[in-house]
Amino acid sequence: MTDPSRNRAWIEVDFDALRGNFELLQRSAGRHARVLPMVKADAYGVGARAVVTALELLDPVGYGVATAAEGIALRGWGIDREVIVFAPLPPGDVGPAAAYGLTVTVSDLAALARWVEAGQTWPGLSFHVEIDTGMGRAGFDWRECLHWAPEVLSLAGEVVRWSGVFTHFHSADTAEAAATTTQWARFQDALAQLPVSREDLVVHAANSAASARWPEFAADMVRAGIFLYGGSAAEPGVSCLRPLPVVSVYARVVLVRDVPPGSSVGYGATHVARGWERWATVAIGYGDGLPRSLGNRGHMLVRGRRVPIVGRISMDMTVVDITGLDDVGPGEIATVIGRSGDETIAVDEVAEAAGTISYEILTGFTPRLPRLERERE
Ligand SMILES: *Cc1c(COP(=O)(O)O)cnc(C)c1O
Repeated sequence: MTDPSRNRAWIEVDFDALRGNFELLQRSAGRHARVLPMVKADAYGVGARAVVTALELLDPVGYGVATAAEGIALRGWGIDREVIVFAPLPPGDVGPAAAYGLTVTVSDLAALARWVEAGQTWPGLSFHVEIDTGMGRAGFDWRECLHWAPEVLSLAGEVVRWSGVFTHFHSADTAEAAATTTQWARFQDALAQLPVSREDLVVHAANSAASARWPEFAADMVRAGIFLYGGSAAEPGVSCLRPLPVVSVYARVVLVRDVPPGSSVGYGATHVARGWERWATVAIGYGDGLPRSLGNRGHMLVRGRRVPIVGRISMDMTVVDITGLDDVGPGEIATVIGRSGDETIAVDEVAEAAGTISYEILTGFTPRLPRLERERE
């Protein structure tokens, strides 16, 4: 039997490029800082298990996730490195997180009290303190350090270990650099007031964009997500390290027809052929995670040629105008993200056309698309 996984639509992951991106960031961060791969949301849709398996070869300091369940899944795959959960835990998740030895991030004293309580049952637990320097969604206020920090220390007592402190940048990817340098200064301000010695804490701030742009903000650890998966870490024009592409998305052409002038395509008949056109129906739609907003806006590559998406995207099918391309028939590969001949569609281009960010494109691909290892050329 031939492998059916490339029959319809699929994702290919270049694990060498993934590791290459990790090493690019590690070199830029310097010898004193470690790269913490963020593998939340199924490693940004790429497939966490395969990503972690690939990264294990590089001996990362640990992994970052967003939920207790994601951390517990890592334990199930045999990962016993540090796993840090980077979103405030719903109270019901505290017990499971503790039972699997995850490290939590703490933004208020009530959450710390719950962690301390779990620590009575599960000895050896740690936590990192988040400091809010402007992101606003989590963290203790950077201006109130003298108020909360001593309370954190005494509440933790000998039960759970305060092992790290961090902040999160809100605009490291934008041309405006001042916002990030301001947040960094606030973070330094707060650090100087902590009642814990700097040497006893893992200090971290940088996400991909900050790591790719400001190696001097690497501190002890950088939290790298999108860069590992090949998403551009910053706006075009911003000078920074750029990642290797990691993710390609392909789908098969399933039907080709020559249509006369006046023919319409898709729900709402939003595209009407002006002359004779050749349309190819491609087996991918919004049910696969191809954003519906790409209707009449996005492109695919067929035989190295950039061809426009015509009409609205359906749940399971998308039509491209391949007028002028001969000999294209069912089974031909259409490239949604990736390279074909001399042409490339980057995940950032798709995001831009869809009015969103690469993160949402990657995490949006549904389980209908198998995630496959890229075959070496
Ligand atoms: C997701 C996340 C990151 C990674 O962000 P990227 O922009 O993908 O590098 C870093 N830190 C925290 C707290 C996160 O939640």
